[in-house]
Formats: sequence, C-alpha cells, structure tokens
Amino acid sequence: MGLDIHQWRSHPNVAQAIADLANYRPVLETAIALQQIPAPTFGEAERAAFVAERLRRIGLSSIDIDAIGNVYSRRPGRRGGPALLVSAHLDTVFPHETDLRLRYEGERIYGPGLGDNSTGLAGLIHLAQVMQQHHLPHDTDIWFVANVGEEGLGDLRGIRAVIDRLRDRIGRVVVLEGCDFGTLHHQAIGVRRYQIEARAAGGHSWGNFGAASAIHSLVRLAARISELSVPSNPRTTFNIGVIEGGTSVNTIAQHARLLLDMRSVSATALANLIAQVDQLVASAAAGQREVTLHVETVGNRPSGAIPREHELVQGAVAALQAVGAPVSFQQSSTDANIPLSQGLPAVCMGLTDGGNAHRHDEFILPANLGRGLQALLLLAMAASAATS
Ligand SMILES: [Zn+2]
Repeated sequence: MGLDIHQWRSHPNVAQAIADLANYRPVLETAIALQQIPAPTFGEAERAAFVAERLRRIGLSSIDIDAIGNVYSRRPGRRGGPALLVSAHLDTVFPHETDLRLRYEGERIYGPGLGDNSTGLAGLIHLAQVMQQHHLPHDTDIWFVANVGEEGLGDLRGIRAVIDRLRDRIGRVVVLEGCDFGTLHHQAIGVRRYQIEARAAGGHSWGNFGAASAIHSLVRLAARISELSVPSNPRTTFNIGVIEGGTSVNTIAQHARLLLDMRSVSATALANLIAQVDQLVASAAAGQREVTLHVETVGNRPSGAIPREHELVQGAVAALQAVGAPVSFQQSSTDANIPLSQGLPAVCMGLTDGGNAHRHDEFILPANLGRGLQALLLLAMAASAATS
C-alpha cells in the first residue's frame, strides 16, 4: 500500500484548506518577514525566536529550542505510531552585514535568502497553521522543526541533532526548500570537504631565495589534485573553491591554505577520490621536509537514498501531480542526507520557482507558491496516516 493522496483531496476539511492555500499572499508575507531577519550559519538565534513565537501562536505543542538553536514543535496525531518530521533550515549563506532589502521586478522578487530558505520556513509555518485552522485529522504526530546549520560549514549539524533527538519517534521525513517547485530529492550526494594548509619557514624573496615556500608547495599540490580524473557515472566531482595565503609580493610565503570540495552519489566513488587526494598529500609531504602539510576535514555529509519507487517518493509525486506540477528529480546535498544515510525515508521538496540561490541577486517567482503548499499539505496528510 502506498500513500493515499487522493483520499485526502476529497476530505472536506482538507479540500477547504487547499482552497485557502490558493491565496499564497500570507505565505509570501511570512517569507519576507523571515528574510528580513539575518540568519547566517551559526547566527540563526533571532530568526529561530521568530519561528518559535509563530509556532506557539498557532497552538502547537512541545515547543522547544535546543542547545544549538533548533526549534521543535509537534501536532499530536489521533492514534500514534511513527511520526512525520517536516523540517526547514533557518540559516543562509549571507553574513550579518548583508543588505537584505527586497527588489521587485515584474513577477520576480529579489532578496538574499528569500528562496533559500525563508520560503521553505514560511511553508513550514503555514502548513502547521492551515492544519490547526481546519482541524485536520492525522493519525501519527507531526513534528514541525526549523533547524540550524544546513549551509556551508554548518555541515548539517542542526538536522544531525534533530534526528538524534527524534530518531525513535519518527518514521518519515519531508525536508522543505523554498525553490525548485516540482523537484524532488531522494538521492543524497555524499560530500567531504578538506582544508589543506601548508607551513614553511619563508623569508625575503631576494635574500632567502631558495627557501621553502608554503604557496609554491600548496599550488604544486593543487595542480596535481586538479588533474585527478573522476567517473561521470556515478557522478563524482571535486573543486578547489578557495586558495589563499602569503604576506606580501616580496615575501616567501610562510602560510597558505586551500578548501577542497569532493562529492559523489556513490559512497565508494567518494571514498576512492578521497583516497587519491590523501595519496597526493602524502607524497607531496614526503617530497619536501621544509614544508608541513596539514589536512583537516571541514565538511562531511554522508550519502544515502531511497528508490524512486519508494512510497514516500511516489506519494510526493502524486501530491505534485494533484496540483498540476511537472515533476522532476535531482541529486543533491541537503538536510535529507542525514535521515537518508541512517535508513530513514526522506524526501526534499521545493515550494515555488526561483533562481540564483546563494547569490545577492537571488529571486523567487511566487506564482506557484500556493500550489507548492497545496502539494505539501496533501503529502503531509498522506504521510501522517497510519501505515496499514
Ligand atoms: Zn537551502
């Protein structure tokens, strides 16, 4: 038995809730209110407090903010059984001082973090709200959670803590992202990130010529890494995204570092790539005694997947089709990595259209936001029905 989307569509209270959600304006207003509160990774507290207050006013139970800043709330089910977790991340890639003013251009609304993930968070809040308003009945509890630490060096620390805490009570997970309406993620890419540092004695560029240079050493290593070959199937990638170091143009560098991002849909292919990089670092270190190389893992996101035929994926497909969305699939690295890597069924879904995520000219197109919420509601109702 799969998830029954159609049964819920014809339930009178659900039908009324779906009619309400056709007006996306209130959801958009919430998204904008959230977007105006800075929430860089490791600085989400103010936005978390806003979300907690909204969930409290809606009337949810078990409202709590944990030690690292995750916001928990629960809507009790009628029967119990493994609960549904619906989560959205609080953090953005934009530092505190970012200009968060919005700009309207035609159908587009531009604003840093508006799509990723203020719109996802607004979806979380309004899903809870519409369920309360229309007294929607579900069998299992639903946990509504806004979590920290999804972006960059947050390394999914928020959702890791959430899953640790709720592991024994939940059976399914739906992760919300603001953009990519119609896109479902059920295959989590594994990611490993390295910081590689080089240290050397350095000196004056003329007077000490010939002394070991941290920069010369690091760029030689970087060149070797850049020449590695990786499989295209299973898709495996790497990128040196940051490289920096040195003191001045006439100083032999004492310090340099780079940040390397490695990804694969296959745990084995990722392990192979990591082993090759480790090998290059080891031989570079062996070849030059005057330079020390130090590798630190600064990101580690495990891979995991459920098949496309899984009832949760098929339920999400049916929910999207019920609102007329074209459905597509994407492999990605999201909060869903953590439940998927632990064998807990999870999908990540987008709520409306948009683009330029992680850029200052990020935008959303809110026209489909109502349909995104409608699909989410149908999925949440079906996924919180007791398994027969
Ligand atoms: Zn996001």
